[in-house]
Amino acid sequence: MTLNDTSTGRNDSYKFNLIPKEVPKINTKYRKIVTSIPPENSIPILNDLRKYEPASMSLELPVVWDIAENFQVFDKNGNCWIDFSSGTFVVNVGHRHPKICKAISETVDNNFLHNYYFPSEIRAKLVKKLHEMIPENLNKVFLLTTGAEATECSIKLARIHGKKTNPKKIGIISFLGAMHGKTLGALMVGGKTKEKHWIGNLDPDMYHLPFPSKDSGEEFFKESIEKLEQNGVDLTTITAFMIESYQGWGALFYPKNYIKALRKWANEHDVIVIFDEIQSGFGRTGKLFAYEHYEVEADIVCCGKGISSGLPLSAVVGRKELIDVDPSLNSTHGGNPVCCAATLASLEVLEDENLVNESARKGEILEKGLLLIKDNYPKRIEISGKGLIFAVHIKNPSTDALDAELVDRIIEKCMQKGLLLIRTGTGTIKIGPPLTIFDDALLEGISVIAESIRECIA
Ligand code: PLP
Repeated sequence: MTLNDTSTGRNDSYKFNLIPKEVPKINTKYRKIVTSIPPENSIPILNDLRKYEPASMSLELPVVWDIAENFQVFDKNGNCWIDFSSGTFVVNVGHRHPKICKAISETVDNNFLHNYYFPSEIRAKLVKKLHEMIPENLNKVFLLTTGAEATECSIKLARIHGKKTNPKKIGIISFLGAMHGKTLGALMVGGKTKEKHWIGNLDPDMYHLPFPSKDSGEEFFKESIEKLEQNGVDLTTITAFMIESYQGWGALFYPKNYIKALRKWANEHDVIVIFDEIQSGFGRTGKLFAYEHYEVEADIVCCGKGISSGLPLSAVVGRKELIDVDPSLNSTHGGNPVCCAATLASLEVLEDENLVNESARKGEILEKGLLLIKDNYPKRIEISGKGLIFAVHIKNPSTDALDAELVDRIIEKCMQKGLLLIRTGTGTIKIGPPLTIFDDALLEGISVIAESIRECIA
């Protein structure tokens, strides 16, 4: 896998060590490692998970969480990690923010846990708040539970819209390597080709363009669209682009000119543009939404993860005429009152603590630190990202391909030193701490990555 070959699946061949291993003790301002890793008493828990859950559920680092607080994760043995994962880029305002916890407790103590889609005051407050925050042209909000539900919903809305002008206008264009969720429609529209092997009949009206490299702009977009047409696609049947605002696995952004050309073409061909901001939204990249970096408008935006900083809530926001078209837009847990209360509190914290700007500011610290690491391995390491989402891409010098196994060894080493990262399975160390992380904790985490890379790269 090279930097721009983004459609391949994961490589999880490296097995994290599950035998308690003596590691050097750590005691710094933000990290503590005082036991063997994994600790002896976590093994029965890890074994139960392995026994009763699908094997895929045991791919992450074997750290059994007991408490998570702001940017730190603690186990029951006195060990403490700096969290550079935010869960999976979920807790943008930090783990267990006191205002979110209070909002949840108050709803549980005083109101109700569920009301299907009967009206509730908390849901009204949340959709109004979201409406105030999002760009003006997006004036309707539909609450759901998971990210995949939001992307599935946007596929449906795009097709209903297209069919109004032409019954065949249901084509959706997305990108190789993109991730839009794991349910059937979301997986098909996504560009992880290998993960679709089990699907009998792929949707013939979903098309995938190559992800543009750093230097390819307008021309590359035009070429890609022309190729689609040469391959027999009737471009008048395209109704939407679905764009992951940066490609998740590698924190790879599109060139701005590319997206501007795409938006222009979409306007000229009555095609809507959907941005999937499930991972990238709510300040993660130093803007409220990552697509703002491209200086274009969106017609529909899919939100999830960081919107609530913890509880399961997602949203589709879009132009009224695209949303108010389907009488079946509702879902059992969509707009759950406890999740709404948590989300409203999270959005207020995002604003009150100026976290979107903080993400941009801290992103500069992060980028500077990572560039210093890259300087030591100019031929092996690339970095990409913005704000508080970055990826360190590490290549194998003999093949020039990304080295997933080496990266897994590095993140295991980081875990032993008190830094928590998620495994991407693609040869990238992905870094996305809570936006609330302290500057010195960010620097401490970066130094752990530098040290671990040094120890793992022979
Ligand atoms: N879209 C993007 C860009 C994502 O990163 C993810 C999850 O990682 C999803 C969609 C799917 O979200 P969920 O896991 O909540 O269904």
